[in-house]
Amino acid sequence: MACKCFKDLEEKATEQVLEGYKEGSYVEDSVEVNWQGGVFWLDGAEHAPMNLKINIKLRQLKKNKEPRTRDTNNELAVYMTYCPLCGVKFKEDEE
Ligand SMILES: [Zn+2]
Repeated sequence: MACKCFKDLEEKATEQVLEGYKEGSYVEDSVEVNWQGGVFWLDGAEHAPMNLKINIKLRQLKKNKEPRTRDTNNELAVYMTYCPLCGVKFKEDEE
């Protein structure tokens, strides 16, 4: 791994959250840590554990040019080639 930023951040965030709970007040095995927009990669290369998400909203027009009552949301995932926390480039493959 080029850097441990995400792993370190997960550990610090988890520690901080768990400090808010008294010992013995939760099931220890129930603690799950997930990134919003998280992605699993199977190619063996280095990646951020999630993609940036960008949402582009618009109001479509009907055939009669009246605006539709609801907006249309278009969500795109942006792949990161560099760690956004330390700036190290992720390796393309394991070699
Ligand atoms: Zn990093």
